Amino acid sequence: MMGFPIRVAVRVRPLLPTDRLHEVVCVDVFPCANQIVLGKQNCFTVNYALPMNCSQSQLFVTTVYPLINCVLEGYDISVVAYGQSGSGKTYTILGPGVHCALSETEYGIIPRVTREIFSRLTQTPGRTFKATVSFIEIYDNEIRDLLNTSQFKKQLIIIGDLKDTTVVGAEEIECQNVSEVFNCLHVGMSNRQVGWITAQQPQYRSHCLFTLTLEQQWIVDGVVHNLRSKAQFTDLGGFGKTVLVENGGHFISESVQLDCGLVALGSVVSALTQSQWQHVQVPYMQSVLTRLLKSSFGGKAATLVIGCVSPASLDFNETLNCLSFLTQIR
Ligand code: ADP
Ligand code: MG
Repeated sequence: MMGFPIRVAVRVRPLLPTDRLHEVVCVDVFPCANQIVLGKQNCFTVNYALPMNCSQSQLFVTTVYPLINCVLEGYDISVVAYGQSGSGKTYTILGPGVHCALSETEYGIIPRVTREIFSRLTQTPGRTFKATVSFIEIYDNEIRDLLNTSQFKKQLIIIGDLKDTTVVGAEEIECQNVSEVFNCLHVGMSNRQVGWITAQQPQYRSHCLFTLTLEQQWIVDGVVHNLRSKAQFTDLGGFGKTVLVENGGHFISESVQLDCGLVALGSVVSALTQSQWQHVQVPYMQSVLTRLLKSSFGGKAATLVIGCVSPASLDFNETLNCLSFLTQIR
């Protein structure tokens, strides 16, 4: 594969009150060696094995901060959270709850990246910039616009060229400052939430893509320079043979069909692995998700995949699946 190599990070969330019944930890992390050991003998090496109980700030500084220069220099970046339901993907990408702005120490990646980008841009003299955001959800291989709250939904169409794939018709909201971006996040997350309550569609199966597009302009010796880049953040739907579903205040176990986007992502990654020694066609077109992640998994964007896993022995199989998938990417 040409272009940017994909970096892989693993974050093990702490035990939660809901794990307490089966309070046995089956994961060990060795941050210095970037290794995770599952059970007694399954050892996985990644680019960043984050220490157990690592803070939001520590995760950001270690894994995402180095990508911020890329966006400002005109390259696309992509951060993808992967893992079973309840493993901490949304917590990592956004923060706890639907509001990103609970407390700053709890901010996830999107609020931190936004803050950093705006502060650097406003500190660069002689440069003008325009920032726009879009926020979409893929459910059952269909796209929904999380920023279009009107009843009259526009038709959303995916178009692609060699460099990029875009959703035409999705709202692109221009944001002047950090709080306008946070407002879009809030609106989008609330729409995701409504969808889940009214339609009884379990939101853990939907994939959310938040994109911040940046256009910069400056003039040197009468020559106009332009840069356009994107920072894309994907909160993938959870997987696993069973998930916990809330049912009138109780949590019940329900088995789910594997989502076609995640299946296609698996095929894409395995084709990319094979393509290192033989010519294979990478099946990006198999699903909406893989079409929209084509630049992320095709070397056109600097991509970080963060695997989120549970430490509980009850989740051993899902954690094994997740870590095997991640080491295949790398
Ligand atoms: P997912 O999006 O993968 O389904 P969530 O991000 O919703 O999982 O996390 C499930 C629960 O665990 C949430 O209540 C969340 O606040 C909590 N959680 C996840 N990761 C952490 C962490 N690193 N530290 C503290 N709480 C966490
Ligand atoms: Mg989630």
